[in-house]
Amino acid sequence: MKIRASIGSVIKLGKQPGRLAAEPTAIYLMTYHVAKCEANCAFCTQARSSSTTTERLSRITWPEFEIEKLFENYSDTNFKSLQRICVQAVNYRNVVSDVLKIVRYLKKVSKLPISLSIKPLPEKDIKTLLKEGVEKICFPVDAATEKLFNKVKGVEVNGPYDFEKHLTSLQTAVKIFGPYNVTTHLIIGLGESEKEAVDFMFKMKKKGVNVGLFAFTPLKGTNLQELKPPLKEAYRRLQLARCLIFNENTSINQFIFDEEGRIKNILIPVEKINRIIVSGIPFLTSGCPGCNRPYYNERVSGPIYNYPSIELVKKDIQKIKIELEGLIK
Ligand code: SF4
Repeated sequence: MKIRASIGSVIKLGKQPGRLAAEPTAIYLMTYHVAKCEANCAFCTQARSSSTTTERLSRITWPEFEIEKLFENYSDTNFKSLQRICVQAVNYRNVVSDVLKIVRYLKKVSKLPISLSIKPLPEKDIKTLLKEGVEKICFPVDAATEKLFNKVKGVEVNGPYDFEKHLTSLQTAVKIFGPYNVTTHLIIGLGESEKEAVDFMFKMKKKGVNVGLFAFTPLKGTNLQELKPPLKEAYRRLQLARCLIFNENTSINQFIFDEEGRIKNILIPVEKINRIIVSGIPFLTSGCPGCNRPYYNERVSGPIYNYPSIELVKKDIQKIKIELEGLIK
């Protein structure tokens, strides 16, 4: 069967020559569908009304392959740096049946855990996907508030999605997959305030849903092609907030915001916050474990929002400290 794979994954699997600016720790696949996605997310190159080719998702090209060709001679032992396979599913009628074929094939060739990012699904499909071997399931909410969601994914762009239904499906998935085996994506830079993004992350944490942060990337041919990417300083504060919320159990009352909803202070001992920043961990790509999405949101020349490796963060740690000025006393 046909499938798409991110160009980095294609190179990693040795199916095309090329130089990787950073090693991917996951293989990224996408369902193959001749037409555009049936949804119409304003930021997405796959959207129904985007004029971009179906070969693109975010900044990346996704060439098509027969799945058997892509994994010909593949064995986990020859690719020890890989930690996960992620399947991104476009929205179309028979997508679940295609995803099941992909998952069944992957289970035959690899023992790597499988993540699936897909439209919200009914309970029956979620159960089947778990039974067939999906390890983490992701329903991307993408926008921090219902109002923004309607504007970029829902009713205002004639999209099929509903904010509350996304949240309900996440909740159902947590019941079936278990807490933190369910992920959502949050795109920073769609117009939310930092406070709204922080509130969203707390809300997800409470539900047992993991959050992968993405920086909005303006892409030619999409509705939002003219919107600017987020300020790096704001993104850094939210990366730090994400780490504090999910890894350090920080409470909402420890975050202090200014009148415009920017994070002004975090009530944590200075030594602790400095230690966390210097560790570099908050600035790594976030989401499912082992997902590093190299250069998904950024050019190799920078600015880098999500770092694909700790070595790359460490090189930039002085710059990051400056970007976080004000939060480090
Ligand atoms: S966080 Fe990474 S591995 Fe998980 S669904 Fe999103 S892109 Fe895939």
